[in-house]
Amino acid sequence: MSTHVHVRVHRGMGVSDSGELIEHYHCRCGATWTKSYRVEED
Ligand SMILES: [Zn+2]
Repeated sequence: MSTHVHVRVHRGMGVSDSGELIEHYHCRCGATWTKSYRVEED
């Protein structure tokens, strides 16, 4: 079995209750990731 290199495809964005920006990614193999960013006001 060859090593699979995940390809993170951007899937959507959202905002958490605490106001962080959440980005969703997925790979064609079914793996998923989320990235959260703290949005600095001001
Ligand atoms: Zn993958």
